[in-house]
Amino acid sequence: KERGRNAYCYYDPKLQVQNEGHRKLETQLVMALERGEFEVYYQPVVELSSRHIRSAEALLRWNSPVLGAVSPAQFIPVAEERGLIVEIGAWVLRQALTQVRTWRSAGHADIRVAVNVSPLQFQQDGFVELVERALRQHGLGGDALILELTEGSLIRDLEAANAKLVRLRELGVQIALDDFGTGYSSLAYLQQLQVDVVKIDRSFVQAMGETGPAVMEAILHLVRQLGYRTVAEGIETVAQYADLEGVGCDSGQGYLFARPVPAREFERVLAHYSRRETAPGD
Ligand code: C2E
Ligand code: MG
Ligand code: MG
Ligand code: MG
Repeated sequence: KERGRNAYCYYDPKLQVQNEGHRKLETQLVMALERGEFEVYYQPVVELSSRHIRSAEALLRWNSPVLGAVSPAQFIPVAEERGLIVEIGAWVLRQALTQVRTWRSAGHADIRVAVNVSPLQFQQDGFVELVERALRQHGLGGDALILELTEGSLIRDLEAANAKLVRLRELGVQIALDDFGTGYSSLAYLQQLQVDVVKIDRSFVQAMGETGPAVMEAILHLVRQLGYRTVAEGIETVAQYADLEGVGCDSGQGYLFARPVPAREFERVLAHYSRRETAPGD
């Protein structure tokens, strides 16, 4: 009204509800860490040929007493926006290292834990030192850890990013490029990255149902040619597993093998898969 008769008004009740929801989430998220509302779940990454678990991806869960269970797809971007992810991410790293040490002491000597790192965390000046210190404090070598990064972390300043990756790899830490195929993915750029593993996004695994495995085969071939190992995300069916093994994908992750579970339960998953005869999905 103040803007006169001809001014448009963009009031949108749906948008306001969204904004209120966002603000509420932010308010709760600020307190979540110190209130102990986070828990780290673990999902196995299975070598397709041997069906052995080689690593576990740490996946953050937030159970808010006010909002209920909130998906990381919802709260991680907010934590990133507000800078909270730096502290939360450091906490996840410590949790994950504590767990991998426990699993290793229990006899799974070669298992690694994979931790997701957000762009803001990775861009922090002391990030490599933080990782180095955390490993030392947990009495672990770098070979216990995989760091998962998305292209968003790497593309802005490739040289600076690669310099950090080289230092991490010198510690024995492996680097995985997460969600491959969903970002910019220029090939010129992919071949310059200092990574060990490329995780092919779930959308390509799903697409195999319609297109057949030929596209996946081409992607895997390319990624292999560049010298990277391959992990397929989101394997849900035996057919997908068979197709992926058929076209030479190294490892896979998905509900077929196990959903992300609390650390305690993951020990049972580990024990289950240690028995060689166990088939995926059993
Ligand atoms: P991501 O790193 O790509 O993790 C894989 C996501 O796929 C996880 O979702 C996992 O639960 C889901 N998933 C695994 N297998 C299947 C399957 O067979 N079918 C389907 N439909 N989904 C499957 P989640 O746990 O909801 O996490 C979503 C994203 O949130 C992660 O994607 C990651 O980008 C981010 N995230 C999770 N935890 C952390 C964390 O500690 N730090 C940071 N920076 N990001 C995190
Ligand atoms: Mg990941
Ligand atoms: Mg991923
Ligand atoms: Mg993904």
